[in-house]
Amino acid sequence: MAANRTVNKLLDQKRQIEQELKSIRSECTHGSQAIKQVHVREGSQVDARWVCDECGSIQRHPNKVELDNFLNNKK
Ligand SMILES: [Zn+2]
Repeated sequence: MAANRTVNKLLDQKRQIEQELKSIRSECTHGSQAIKQVHVREGSQVDARWVCDECGSIQRHPNKVELDNFLNNKK
């Protein structure tokens, strides 16, 4: 039961954090963005996406030119 209580507490905190992130991200104008390697889904492989510098939300797929530049700059 102790583990169960801890899990419930953590899930509660996770919900609160997700709500806070959602509210920050909904107010963000995403004015500053950069291409980053991100996990698009939990447990997925990393993939390049435009990510907001301010709130960390994933914005869109880079196009081929943007992706080539990103990969070249990494070397
Ligand atoms: Zn943002």
